[in-house]
Amino acid sequence: MTEDPPIRIAVIGSGPAGFYAAGHLLNDNSERFEVDMVERLPTPWGLVRSGVAPDHPKIKSVTRVYEKTAAHPRFRFFGNVHFGEHVSREDLLAHYHAIVYATGSSIDRPLGIPGEHLPGSHPATEFVGWYNGHPDHRDLELALDSARRAVVIGNGNVALDVARMLSLTRDELAGTDIADHALDVLEHNHIDEIVVVGRRGPAQAAFTNPELRELKDLLDADVIVDPAELERALAVADPHATPTAQRNVELLREYAARPPLGRRRRIVLRFLLSPVALLGDPAHGVTAVELSRNELALDGDGTPRARATAERETIPAGLVFRAIGYRGIPLAGVPFDERLGVIPNAGGRVVDPSTGDPLRGEYVVGWIKRGPSGVIGTNKKDAQQTVDAILADVSSAVNGDAPLLAPESPDAEAVERMLLARQPDLVPYEGWLSIDRHERALGEGSNRPRVKLTTIDEMLRIAASEGPPEDS
Ligand code: NAP
Repeated sequence: MTEDPPIRIAVIGSGPAGFYAAGHLLNDNSERFEVDMVERLPTPWGLVRSGVAPDHPKIKSVTRVYEKTAAHPRFRFFGNVHFGEHVSREDLLAHYHAIVYATGSSIDRPLGIPGEHLPGSHPATEFVGWYNGHPDHRDLELALDSARRAVVIGNGNVALDVARMLSLTRDELAGTDIADHALDVLEHNHIDEIVVVGRRGPAQAAFTNPELRELKDLLDADVIVDPAELERALAVADPHATPTAQRNVELLREYAARPPLGRRRRIVLRFLLSPVALLGDPAHGVTAVELSRNELALDGDGTPRARATAERETIPAGLVFRAIGYRGIPLAGVPFDERLGVIPNAGGRVVDPSTGDPLRGEYVVGWIKRGPSGVIGTNKKDAQQTVDAILADVSSAVNGDAPLLAPESPDAEAVERMLLARQPDLVPYEGWLSIDRHERALGEGSNRPRVKLTTIDEMLRIAASEGPPEDS
């Protein structure tokens, strides 16, 4: 054990990026780092809990790595604490040697077209949060009992998650950790066609291969690709096509060649279409999507871009999901790049946007650092880059430069007292463990990994209790 005083770090946000950063810091040979993680919800794991689709349990098993980090004696979790409400940037500057922002990208990018906000048009974040039991989205109302067709805008993995979740049968969902309310509503889902539209071609789609391939395993949905449209959309060769994109094209050709099996639902993958307006009215909601037919044109560096032609197409639809990417939200007092929806930074060091100079002791990881790209594992490397910057700054601090903060009160008990005074319902890691045990016990009876609690009140009640649930 080191004789040097501890270096106290606040990590804001408990998703993969925050946990990888905490893990790298705690594993540092100096053994000097103490990590306090501040999380808005009483539950940790960010998008692993509230973003990864319920039918992808393997992806969720990554939390075992984060659990090891959380069990570290130099780690503390402060759940149900809101940055900007219970704790400010100034509070953290007074108590920690460094702050690592790991708040992700929690809202959708806007489409910016007329009708975008009509009833029945939903950002994917809301739908994803709803089926995953996120307390913010549990009351979402979806016209799943009246709409027959849904249009999903975007060609990324979130668009495929949305299309798949609308297609899975109750039997396929019943053994998952989907929120109970979503299981009930999706069982009475009358959608029989889901149209996924990409503004560019199949070679430019952002899907990854396993996600595109698994559509063929759906029990009660056919995947429809029009061979003529597919080949038209491939007419312009993409000089930047990656092996993933090439494999996607092969998979799409396989779908195009398969005759439909007459299943209950159809997932139709369309290309070279950009929404220009959502049609409908506020009383009756969205009724159709108007789209421009596009062609591909190579820009200066050879990247195929969508260019609208004069041709239009209208697809009738009672539901629209906008899955065109996420963006971060600004944190009070912390620099923010409105255009990119991220905290401006140089390799993980937060920078003053007016000078480009790093701000002492402030760092950033994950989607709020680089934007919403990559898979969960991408955040491990991303967090390492930021932690390397912290370690480099610590070494130069030793040499007299003091690039980390010099907090007035770097005392672990003092900060806990302050947080408890501001938020008496603070949920420590033990509180989350009670919630976790409770949810798992509820799942045992129905062969599910867990039954999620979806209100903050329920979570707080269970977090404050001991032992397994009485009613399981
Ligand atoms: P994404 O991968 O960036 O895809 C966004 C899609 O929206 C792209 O096809 C993009 O087309 C399209 N788009 C953007 N602006 C548009 C506009 N104005 N009009 C029409 N289309 C527009 O984003 P995502 O699907 O939200 O996923 C975010 C990240 O999470 C990705 O890295 C993804 O792989 C990851 N993720 C992974 C999984 C998994 O591993 N199973 C599941 C979910 C999400 P252009 O290419 O033309 O811009």
